[in-house]
Amino acid sequence: MMPREIRYSPFIHAIIMIVVLAACQKDPEITREEYVLSITEKVNSDSLGSYISWLEGMGTRFALADNHREVAVEIRNRFVSFGYNDARLDSFYLTKTFRDITYSTWQYNVIASMPGRNQDNICVVGAHYDDVVSGGDPFTLAPGANDNASGVAAVLEMARIIKRYRFRPEHTIRFVAFAAEEIGLNGSIDCVTKAAMAGDRILMMINHDMISYVADPGARPWHVNIIYYDNSEQLRDEAAALCTANTSLVPYSDNTYYNRSDSYPFFVAGFRALFFQQGDFEDTYHTTGDVSSVCNMEYCREVVRASFAVLVDKNY
Ligand SMILES: [Zn+2]
Repeated sequence: MMPREIRYSPFIHAIIMIVVLAACQKDPEITREEYVLSITEKVNSDSLGSYISWLEGMGTRFALADNHREVAVEIRNRFVSFGYNDARLDSFYLTKTFRDITYSTWQYNVIASMPGRNQDNICVVGAHYDDVVSGGDPFTLAPGANDNASGVAAVLEMARIIKRYRFRPEHTIRFVAFAAEEIGLNGSIDCVTKAAMAGDRILMMINHDMISYVADPGARPWHVNIIYYDNSEQLRDEAAALCTANTSLVPYSDNTYYNRSDSYPFFVAGFRALFFQQGDFEDTYHTTGDVSSVCNMEYCREVVRASFAVLVDKNY
């Protein structure tokens, strides 16, 4: 309760209200394009590098390894540290045969949400967090820095910035770190199946898988592959234009691997999806050599900015 001796006139009260209301308005001098550029400039390469090193440091993120729930909990805790108090593990049961042994396990997608001004529609932003190695023993070592700590870093960084700079999206944004991609796109299949059964209206899904490697960093310009589907060609064109407007990257589309990552089940379910991937082939793919030194954080930052520009523009 306010002390009795503190009084101010209605005139002062009105002045304070005008100042407060003015501070809450969007700056009319800032255009949509300028806002998209300014918020994508907040993407920080040191942040991306720190997420990648942290995920790599877990030793293995193989979906069938003993620590796989701990990995999911750690990612959930990272969302919570950004202020996503609803971040949770969403479980599904998976029976899988790997190298002639059958495993039955619970798997865990990690989901965090930013409610939209219009909560009828959802934009999904995702990347898989598991890894596998083909030569060694994935139960003990699968660092997966580029594949796909880099993609998870993209999702985390967008979530961090949206919360930190209080971006209130038009549509609800659902951030998802997918489980068990490497052994059959299982996390994304479970996620989209549940969404379809719930009648969720997913406006678009943006996937990130292997986004931090560039073969010759000195050879400019850098490129990014924006993979699209039969129903998302127009979205791809818009993404390419936003990429050109907001980053130094040259966008192109090579859809060869369209069905090899978590965007594919969303397309199959009838939703529009885009899949951001680096332009160059990287030969430590699915080996124990996929460590942080493979990643170029400045390149990764550019790819994240390209993807983030789409998310913010569609939710301005
Ligand atoms: Zn991958």
